[in-house]
Formats: sequence, C-alpha cells, structure tokens
Amino acid sequence: MKIILLGPPGSGKGTVSEKLEKDFNFAHVSAGELLREEVKKGTTLGKDIQKIIEKGNLVPDNLVTELIKLEVTGKKSFILDGFPRTLKQAEATAELNINLVIYLEVPEEIVIERFSGRRVCSTGEHGYHLKYLPPKKEGVCDHDGTKLVQRKDDRPEVIKERFKIYHKETQPLIDYYKQKGILKTVDASPNPEKVYAAVKKVVQELKKK
Ligand code: AMP
Repeated sequence: MKIILLGPPGSGKGTVSEKLEKDFNFAHVSAGELLREEVKKGTTLGKDIQKIIEKGNLVPDNLVTELIKLEVTGKKSFILDGFPRTLKQAEATAELNINLVIYLEVPEEIVIERFSGRRVCSTGEHGYHLKYLPPKKEGVCDHDGTKLVQRKDDRPEVIKERFKIYHKETQPLIDYYKQKGILKTVDASPNPEKVYAAVKKVVQELKKK
C-alpha cells in the first residue's frame, strides 16, 4: 500500500508514520528527514538546504522530488510523510500510484500550542512532546538514548512562515486528491493515541478491500 500523509506543520505526520511503520511494516519516507540527512553531510548542497529549512521555506521541487523517487524505488509499501507539499511535486510523482491520502485536519491554534513542547532526538528520527508524548526518561530518546532537542525550525517566527507556505502551496493538494477520490480526512485535534486509532482504522478498511 502506498500512502501520503498530508497536514499542516505539527499535525502529527511524523508520529503517525512511526506508528504505521511499526504496525504495518510500511517504510516511512520522510521528506524532512531525507533533507536533514543531506544537511548532516555538510556538503555545499547540504548547506544550501539548511539555510532554506531554517527560514521555514520550501526546498526546490526538483530536488525533493528526486530524493523521494530514489528513496521509494523498489518499495511496495510506504508512507510519504511531508511529501508532496506542492502541486508540482504531486504531479511529478503521479506515476507512484498512491492508494490513499490521509489528511490530518487540525486547527492552527491547536498546532501552535503543540510546537512549544515538541522535541526530537539528536538523530532526528524520533519525535516527542513534553506534555502529550513524553519520553520514559526526561530529556532522553526511548529508542536510541540520544538527547532530546528542539528543532531550529520549530521556533515561533519560523513556524509563522511555515504556516504561510502551507496555506499557499500545500493546502491546494487537499482538493487535488479529493478529486482523485483517494483522500480520507482524519480529525487530528485529539491526543496522539486517538488520532492514530482513527488513522489505523482507515488503513485497515482499505487493506480489507
Ligand atoms: P518536516 O520535517 O516535514 O517538517 O520538514 C522540515 C522542512 O524541510 C520544511 O519546513 C521544508 O523546509 C523542508 N521540506 C520538507 N519536505 C519538503 C517538501 N516536500 N518540499 C520542499 N521542502 C520540504
């Protein structure tokens, strides 16, 4: 099964993907994670990407699209987390034959409140929330023992920019996939367990067909 997770910054795409990966054995392909890996390499390209991410802007469509295509090659089941984010990206990957797009719908006020407590482990792979999804041991990742940190692009001024771009570039994808008849909307306002239970139901229903 090929799934896209769509939703504003902070809607829980990463958390939902991690859980789907565990329960259904889907590969979790996170665009943001792939880009942050490039940044870690410290190449000229990585440095350019870092500047864009830290401002809350979008990395050029061609670059992200190529990274994603390379990553999904040969994979039968995957979740795309944070991709596509523009109509161009969606059109350029139409041949992936996506089965399901889950739209995590959540009001902006709720998401902004979530950001203040959002943390990520130093590898960038596992996400937490101080209030809603705390680690077992304070400040330490349950999975790899690395220190929890706040992402630079989770700062309030960058969040504002990310939302502006989300409304302009990504929101049109909701109608795009609705018209294709593959969009399912899930209310992403409740706690992570409730949101995931609703997502899981949608995936299980489609698997039965
Ligand atoms: P995320 O981890 O999904 O919140 O992404 C972090 C940042 O990476 C975004 O704010 C963008 O700067 C960049 N990014 C992630 N996915 C994409 C994408 N599909 N297209 C362009 N830029 C992206």
